[in-house]
Amino acid sequence: MRAAIYRGKGNLEVAEIAVPRVGPSEVRIAVEYCGVCGTDLHDVLDEWGASGSIGGHEWSGRVVEVGSDVLLEIDTLVVGHPGHACGRCKACLASRTNLCEERPTAGLEQPHGAFADYVVIGSDRAVPVPSGVEARAAAYAEPLAVALHALDLAGVDSKHRVMVSGCGPIGAAAVAALVAQGHDGVVVVEPSPLRRDLALRLGATVLEPSDLESPWHPGRAVDEPVDVVIETSGIRTAAESGLAQLVACGRMVLVGTGMDFPRLDSNRIILNELVVTGAYTYGANGIASALDLISSGLLPLDALIEPESVGLDALFDTMVRLRAGEVAGKVLVRP
Ligand SMILES: [Zn+2]
Ligand SMILES: [Zn+2]
Repeated sequence: MRAAIYRGKGNLEVAEIAVPRVGPSEVRIAVEYCGVCGTDLHDVLDEWGASGSIGGHEWSGRVVEVGSDVLLEIDTLVVGHPGHACGRCKACLASRTNLCEERPTAGLEQPHGAFADYVVIGSDRAVPVPSGVEARAAAYAEPLAVALHALDLAGVDSKHRVMVSGCGPIGAAAVAALVAQGHDGVVVVEPSPLRRDLALRLGATVLEPSDLESPWHPGRAVDEPVDVVIETSGIRTAAESGLAQLVACGRMVLVGTGMDFPRLDSNRIILNELVVTGAYTYGANGIASALDLISSGLLPLDALIEPESVGLDALFDTMVRLRAGEVAGKVLVRP
């Protein structure tokens, strides 16, 4: 089978490799679509990946082979849940399985991803897609689950004023989910004109980073503070200015990773009892909840997903274009 293999910074080789074998409790899946994630860009363009790894965790596909212990039917359309949960550690017992002590180290221990013709996973991690949801839409479940988890940790309610910092794939998914849930007045901060246009089409009010002010005193709020900031860009200054937009008792959820870490004003956090938390992937029901929202038909998937899919051979160029900000929506690879 063909796979896109990371060979070192900026080097993605499309090569023929052996079809992975299926263990007794595993399934082999023919990949239908696999989204390109910011993490994939970090892995390949920023050298975060392990050499020899295959990226791609936002996929849908059809079961083509099952292990001897597996009941799933051949041809079932599924989405992969990446998490491994031991079920015994403190995090697992608190239903925070995404933080399981035995979870793979991010960036170092990656499962074999779906930038390939086939993936093999444990059957417990293959989430069947509800009828009526097509493979292309189903591949959007993973990034949507990430966004829904961030909104969950933010404790967003219908009266909250929400600012989404960055309108890349996760930011756009967060905006679309909020709008689908009946939220109006979602504010997006985004420097790229292409992504600002996407945010507008999704129904948000759009600002540029330079529109944000910082109050002169850390105990004071801006004129129109927000209750929640969802920081998806991973950009240092975005997190720093995001914090300054919060009302007292406000909450900022960091979901975009980066290597230039923000200097968050601790005086502002203290004087306003702000909460800053991270959001990492999603819980055990994350994919199923995302599939439910997709199934509802309330998401504008035509705006969120780029109309043209790309093949494995075009994946690297696509990553470069995504990094350059030349594409606003989620790009799907069709191996
Ligand atoms: Zn992702
Ligand atoms: Zn555990």
